[in-house]
Amino acid sequence: MKILNNVMEKVIKRDPDQPEFHQAVREVLESLEPVAERYPEYVKAGIFERIVEPERQIIFRVPWVDDNGRIHVNRGYRVQFNSAIGPYKGGLRFHPSVNLSIIKFLGFEQIFKNSLTGLPIGGAKGGSDFDPKGKSDGEVMRFCQSFMTELYRHIGEDTDVPAGDIGVGSREIGYLYGQYKRIRNNFTGVLTGKGLTWGGSLARTEATGYGLCYFVEEMIKAAGKSFKGTTVVVSGSGNVAIYAAEKVHQLGGEVIALSDSNGYIHDPDGIKIDTVKQIKEVERKRISEYIKYHPKAKYYEGCSGIWSLKCDIALPCATQNEIDEQSARKLVANGCFAVGEGANMPSTPEAIEVFLENGVMFAPAKAANAGGVATSALEMCQNSMRYSWTFEEVDAKLKEIMINIYKNASTAAKDFGHEGNLVVGANIAGFLKVADAMYAQGIAY
Ligand code: NDP
Repeated sequence: MKILNNVMEKVIKRDPDQPEFHQAVREVLESLEPVAERYPEYVKAGIFERIVEPERQIIFRVPWVDDNGRIHVNRGYRVQFNSAIGPYKGGLRFHPSVNLSIIKFLGFEQIFKNSLTGLPIGGAKGGSDFDPKGKSDGEVMRFCQSFMTELYRHIGEDTDVPAGDIGVGSREIGYLYGQYKRIRNNFTGVLTGKGLTWGGSLARTEATGYGLCYFVEEMIKAAGKSFKGTTVVVSGSGNVAIYAAEKVHQLGGEVIALSDSNGYIHDPDGIKIDTVKQIKEVERKRISEYIKYHPKAKYYEGCSGIWSLKCDIALPCATQNEIDEQSARKLVANGCFAVGEGANMPSTPEAIEVFLENGVMFAPAKAANAGGVATSALEMCQNSMRYSWTFEEVDAKLKEIMINIYKNASTAAKDFGHEGNLVVGANIAGFLKVADAMYAQGIAY
């Protein structure tokens, strides 16, 4: 870190209380040092200073009334980070842990991820510290309506197109979309992840998890391996985890564990995905319910124990920093040969170091989980055309996109002297396209 040290120092000085954001920026800047050396014009044009500062940050009050008539006030966020290559695009997260640091880290990552898809979408992220868990449908609806009553001013099909993330699934997207349409009297593709009868795309629900597996399959293929016959651990049991597990099974692997924020289940005979879908998608219950249906499976309290299970491939699909150095060492000691990040930034920098030092093939989030946003961009495309592709058509495009992301990231890694390091490769490949657009578009005085 030489040329870019200064940029990192300014980021920390400006927002000293944003550790997740610093972590995300540091990882990218470290990878970009050879780019700064090769392209001094980007340094001169202040591209690095500009790319770490959001174009716009919106923070707003979200008041809502619960079923007992009590008033609650949450905080809403939308960080519009970069629009150099297309309208802002990125999910909304509803979770009590949400704060500006987390939304900024996610928005920053989104810039490079969206660029990697090869599609014309800029980077953004938003959300609220609202917790949908334990709330009635009516409460979630009133919250979503209040959230959109402010957000609608800042978004639009050619301006900013939000989607789901943790705590925001098809139910929430429905309530948000309904309110947008009421206020604007406008039926447009302003949100993605919509229902199939009102503008949604087939395969969007499956896209992040399926895309992760397509990426990992391509990565391990380069080493002569495949999912066939492997034992796989997947953390989380939400949208990404469920469909990653489903695709692993389709590709011939065996998923033996899933989790939620309370604990994990271990089913040595292989997790039954239909049971998980029933518990999580239909009944909205905890993953511990699984052992009622499959008594041979075991439930353990606490999340991190899942990484001490013996497996060939690990797919962290829950949340940020869920694999620390200690968990990474356990995975390595147990013979895990590949890690694919379905969640955003699930491995700490120390954990990534352990994987890379020990020759574990490592698929970083911004490349490996880009299938969700890529399919969202395909949803935008279908909305603009007023047309729908079949499941098979969308799935085939998704697979092609994921394979291209792998190729571009590995080529960039090699080109810049870090062969085999997809962390560096994904950061560089994602950055170059955005930097080129920012450079061409000049600075507004
Ligand atoms: P969901 O809300 O559907 O599921 C999240 C899962 O992770 C749940 O099982 C949840 O458990 C668990 N989880 C959440 N917070 C924590 C925590 N602090 N500790 C342990 N477990 C936790 O979200 P998604 O599946 O959509 O998102 C999962 C990850 O994937 C996130 O990092 C998200 O940013 C990323 N991602 C999602 C995309 C998408 O298309 N949905 C696209 C790209 C990335 P519990 O129910 O107990 O909270």
